[in-house]
Amino acid sequence: MPTSADIVVIGGGIVGVFAAYYLARRGVRVALVEKGRIAAEQSSRNWGWCRQQNRDARELPMAMESLTLWQRLAAEIGEDVGFRRCGLLYLSDDAAEIETWARWNDVARPFGLTTHVFGAEEAAERGKATGRRWKGGVFSASDGIADPVRAGPIVARAIVAAGGSVHQMCAARGLEIEGGRVSGVIAEAGTIRTRTVVLAAGAWASAFCRQVGFRFPQASVRQSILAVAPTNQDVPDALHTGAVSVTRRGDGGYTLAISGRGRVDPTPQKLRFAREFVPMFVRRWRSLAPGGLEGWRASFESLDRWRTDAPSPMERMRTLDPSPDRRQIDETYRRACSLLPALQGAPVAAAWAGYIDSTPDGIPGIGEVPGLPGLVLAAGFSGHGFGIGPGAGHLIADLVTGARPLVDPTPYRPGRLAGSAWGKVADF
Ligand SMILES: Cc1cc2nc3c(=O)[nH]c(=O)nc-3n(C[C@H](O)[C@H](O)[C@H](O)COP(=O)(O)OP(=O)(O)OC[C@H]3O[C@@H](n4cnc5c(N)ncnc54)[C@H](O)[C@@H]3O)c2cc1C
Repeated sequence: MPTSADIVVIGGGIVGVFAAYYLARRGVRVALVEKGRIAAEQSSRNWGWCRQQNRDARELPMAMESLTLWQRLAAEIGEDVGFRRCGLLYLSDDAAEIETWARWNDVARPFGLTTHVFGAEEAAERGKATGRRWKGGVFSASDGIADPVRAGPIVARAIVAAGGSVHQMCAARGLEIEGGRVSGVIAEAGTIRTRTVVLAAGAWASAFCRQVGFRFPQASVRQSILAVAPTNQDVPDALHTGAVSVTRRGDGGYTLAISGRGRVDPTPQKLRFAREFVPMFVRRWRSLAPGGLEGWRASFESLDRWRTDAPSPMERMRTLDPSPDRRQIDETYRRACSLLPALQGAPVAAAWAGYIDSTPDGIPGIGEVPGLPGLVLAAGFSGHGFGIGPGAGHLIADLVTGARPLVDPTPYRPGRLAGSAWGKVADF
């Protein structure tokens, strides 16, 4: 591990690796420390959707730029992260829901984007794998998917190829602060002197911020998901319905999930920030159910302060690997088989869960932490971070090198979350 670096990135999820990648490409001496394995938490557990459709206006510019960056990546690094603009297909029987999706065109049009809205006849054709009729839907042709299993590790290798360094099984325990600004990262393998730290610690970010006195309201939801083995049948690459969503995997199998459905595992941090999350909860409560105590035991949302000269909670929990909700897994599989006859009998290859970290307004916190020069937050991606990972990483690299920002960073300012005012919860 280097004893000094221009910039240290804490966390090797999709956001951290893309930030370090764009920094290394600019010739910056960047070191990334990851407490476990690259992308072993949320960033390899997701569906892989890279989506503009239904994005909140505050996030849409970053989503659009991210798709361009995903597309460019294979040519830049000569490796395939499974990105394809296959389009995302939404089908529904609910006229009001279709109308809401269609109305998103009003959000998208000012950005030069539109989505294709269709009725029953076209739905029958686009949704023929379901073998039934639909009222209609939307198809966002320029959206796509990438492979969450491959993307993180491939980008991490590209950081090293571009001159940066990546250190797995190396938790950052805390920061050194001199004269009121960051002067180093205290990691389990030693201290790295640096004046700039990017905190891309996913669901652990708020607990880390607490160690340095910054209040970052963040809460997680446990989502359960499964994969079925490859099938030769004709199933859409990426299909959303109210019952279940289906995504083709890099190995030819399918990821199955119920959109938005999750369990809220109570933790000390959730109790602390409960008030901030009321508006979010009011919008999403229909999809949420109470969970169990494993989040409490995992201690990523504890209120403790830890020492920097002894093993920290991050070293005791190298990878957050929560248990999937068996009942939800069974229900998801049943719904998918009933929606898509081609999947009937497809063996379940794996089932897992992931903690989705969210901010109260559903928009990530990206930017310098108020009152602590040198600490740049990049967390709270609220279930959208995989698709917008490249844009977020690029923006972070812009901010810390003083380059012209890829997109306007104002909506992401961490300072907006510090006050008691409730922000507008992301629309979609
Ligand atoms: C089931 C599920 C489905 C999803 N579907 C989608 C989707 O289709 N499209 C989409 O865009 N998004 C999706 N998401 C959300 C997306 O996966 C996340 O928003 C994104 O991966 C967050 O990336 P991250 O880098 O911020 O965090 P993470 O991937 O969680 O990475 C954070 C990393 O930081 C490390 N870390 C933490 N603290 C420290 C420390 N002190 N020292 C060193 N390392 C540390 C952790 O070990 C971890 O590896 C989904 C998420 C889930 C769980």
